[in-house]
Formats: sequence, structure tokens, C-alpha cells
Amino acid sequence: MHRRLIAPGALAVSLLLAIPASAASYSPGAPGIGDPYYPAYGNGGYDVSHYDLRLKYQPQTDELEGTATLLATTTQDLSRFDLDFLLDVSEVRVNGAKASFATSGQHELEITPANPLPKGTPITVVVRYSGVPSTKSAYGFSTWHRTPDGAVAADEPEAAWWWFPSNDHPLDKATYDVSVAVPDGTQAISNGTLQSTSSRLGWTRYNWRSNKPQATYLATLAVGKFDITTGKTSDGVPIINAYSKDLGDNDGAARASVERTGEIVDWLTGYFGPYPFNAVGGYVPNTTTGYALETQTRVFYSPRQFANGSNTSVVVHELTHQWYGDDVSLKGWKDIWINEGFARYAQWLWSEHEGEGTTQELADYVYASHPADDAFWTVKPGDPGPDDQFDIAVYDRGALAVQALRNEVGDDAFFAILKGWPKDHAYGNASVGDFQEYAEQVSGKSLASLFDAWLFQPSKPGAPAAQDASIARSSAKAGTLPRPKSWKKIEATNDLHAE
Ligand SMILES: [Zn+2]
Repeated sequence: MHRRLIAPGALAVSLLLAIPASAASYSPGAPGIGDPYYPAYGNGGYDVSHYDLRLKYQPQTDELEGTATLLATTTQDLSRFDLDFLLDVSEVRVNGAKASFATSGQHELEITPANPLPKGTPITVVVRYSGVPSTKSAYGFSTWHRTPDGAVAADEPEAAWWWFPSNDHPLDKATYDVSVAVPDGTQAISNGTLQSTSSRLGWTRYNWRSNKPQATYLATLAVGKFDITTGKTSDGVPIINAYSKDLGDNDGAARASVERTGEIVDWLTGYFGPYPFNAVGGYVPNTTTGYALETQTRVFYSPRQFANGSNTSVVVHELTHQWYGDDVSLKGWKDIWINEGFARYAQWLWSEHEGEGTTQELADYVYASHPADDAFWTVKPGDPGPDDQFDIAVYDRGALAVQALRNEVGDDAFFAILKGWPKDHAYGNASVGDFQEYAEQVSGKSLASLFDAWLFQPSKPGAPAAQDASIARSSAKAGTLPRPKSWKKIEATNDLHAE
């Protein structure tokens, strides 16, 4: 990554002159939040509590314009700070006063307020902007998907840059009001509850609210011609699903899967505790991309997930993330196992529930079907590195590690951990280390060697480790176990995050 500074030097000089001598401690916030996998993602020096996005989108031309109002608090004496953003900014105000701004790096918007900001100050940042998101890229790629009738913003770990300025890292979670005007006859879908809609002069405005902390990559926007269905879970959580009117032959299978959201939330509540958000549901736009994503309260599903018929397994996976990933978010992207290992494990629990193979059979199958020299085992789910963050091993080896943990601590402790974790870290962030500590606390067992063997070694755990964890006990030879019935459906969700 090559950082390119475009900030005009004259600006920096005049700013220095404007700062009183007593303000020598004022310095720019870091251009990244400090994640070694993605050094430029997020920013330092402030913490956002709320995003208010008031937008207008024209599907025909892909023009997006709007105003973002961010409520934040400074965490250091700030002379300047960054947001992550790619669209064209026309004005920035901080606490009501015009601020100067410049772009730098791949996606930095550097904002210099008229007056330096002392640590602990509540600030309001207003950014007016416009642009054609599909013409913008960073690091040579774009995650903004145009569709025949609109567009979709849903990707991991980056999606926000194309539609709103943010502190783009899961460490800085915030609540959201997303208001989007689209041409009459078109819908705008986002997170949470639909507070209201209004129509005027050919435009319809959709006002969405997500009222619990939400990571930036879990904020989503979909514009298109959708059919919207509503319902309620047994606990009364509102369900809002949306299906593109152009899903063709995938329409039936998509609905036969996503309409089971309420049933699956009820079932998952038995394992993970009360559903943590104000709404739930999913949307299926007419995009050609293949993955699904756990966008908070409103899961994004590619129609391709339903090309072979209904697939409740992918619904289980993405809804599990509402607890494991969304409610409790990772601290750094290296902690991805807490998201994917558990979302995959829930698919195994669902397989057992459906009578298509037990979690133990699936774990044994994963262990036996990859010989020791398979590159699969070189990926460490506990710290896979940015290139292998979404490697299949993070999912399958990750879920295998969950079964090993279950066998080590016993079912009572395991299910107490599974349910207690989202409560213990509700609406916060946690690391794999935090999880190990929590599992040790609940089970009363030291789990260092278990975590090391199953999550942190770049090699297949050997026979003694497998025996200790009761994995593949009955398999004489690798590759001799029968393939569980659910395997194909679970495998079909494997391109969850693939481009
Ligand atoms: Zn996932």
C-alpha cells in the first residue's frame, strides 16, 4: 500500500499558526484505527456514536447525493482527523463551523476544523457529498454493486466508502438513521425498522432506523424494485424481508428460505439467548454476485444462494452472525474465527436438527477428509492473516475447533458458553483471547493447549490432540468417513464472502 499525500502544505502552515502555544499537544488523528490486517481502515482520535444519513439515489445514472451528520466524541487533543470515504465532498462543517478538507491515501478524507478540538469534546460533523459510486475505487476494487434497477452496498470488510463517510472499522460501532429518497416505484432497503415513508414530486423517501450499536461494514443499502414482506418472531421482533421483483426462477427458493427467518431466529434464540436487535430479516436483490453477508438486522443474500432450491443453512449462518459478529463484534479482523467458526457451527447444529448429520459427524468428516499435508491445515483460524481471512479453513476448521471445545468442556459448560458470550459482551467488541478467557471461566478448565492446537498451529492436530478432543475417534483412516447428508447444502454457502 502506498500512501499518497495530497494535502496542500499551505493549509498545514496556516493551521499551525492558528494554534495557540498552549495547544502544542494538539495533533492529527491517526489515518488508521490500528488494525494490523488493514492499517488504513478506520481512524484515530474520535469515536462515533451516531450516523444520520440523508440521501437521494437515482438508479438510472447511479448518482448518489446527500448529507451525513456524524455525532462523535474526541479521544485526544485533535488538530485534524480523518474519515474514510470515496465520493466527492462539497462541504464539511464541524460543530457548525466550516472546516477545510482534503483527500489522501486510498480512502482518507482529512478534515481540519476551524478550531482545534480538546480531548473528550462532543462533536458534530456534517459532510455534504455527491458522486457516482460505481466510478470510485480503492486499492483497485469496488464493492458497490449496480443492479438493473438500482444498487447494493454490502461487503466485508469494506462497503461504507462508496456511500457514506465513516470511521470504517468494527471497533467504532454506532447507531444509524438512514433516510433515502428514490424515484417512485423503487424501494430503498437498509438496516433496522422502517420508521416511515413519504412521497413528493416523484420521489419516495424511506426512513430506516438501527437503534443498537452497528459496525460500519454491517450498514447496508439496497435500492431497486422489491416486494416487501413483514411478520414477527415468537418474541415479537418485527421481520422485514425484501425480494427483487426480477429474481426469475430463483424467486420461489429465495422466499422458501428467507421467509423462515422467524422460525430460525426462534430456534437460534434457544442456543444464543434473546435476539439482540429491533428488527430482523433479509433481502435478495437481482445481483450477479454470489455471496451472502450478515448485514445487521437485514441480511444480504445473493440469488445464487438459492439456485439449487431452498437453502435454510445459509439463513442459519447469517442469522447466527446477528449474535456472533454483529452483537459481539470482533476487535481486530484477525478475530474472524469468532464470527465464522460459530456461524458455520450453527449450520452443523441445524444439520443435526434436520436429521442430516450430527455436529460430531460433521467435525469428524472435516478432520478425516483433509490429510495432514493438505494446505487446509496451514491456515490458522485464530489468526489467518488478511489473505486467508475468508479461507474455507476459517469456516470448516473453525467449526471443527468449536466441536473440539465442546467435547473438552462437556455439553453443559459448552451451551452455557454459547449462550453466555453474547450477553457477556453485548453490543461490544471481543477477541479470540477474550473468548478463550470466557470459556475457561465458565468451564473452569485451562484451554490454552486446546486453542493452540485447533486454532493457532499451521498444521493438522495430531492423533493425540484429536483423541483428547474426541474428534474422529472411530475413523481408522483419513477419507474413510461417510459424507453427512447436509454437507452439500453447507458447502453451497462457502462463497459467502468470495468476490
Ligand atoms: Zn459468515
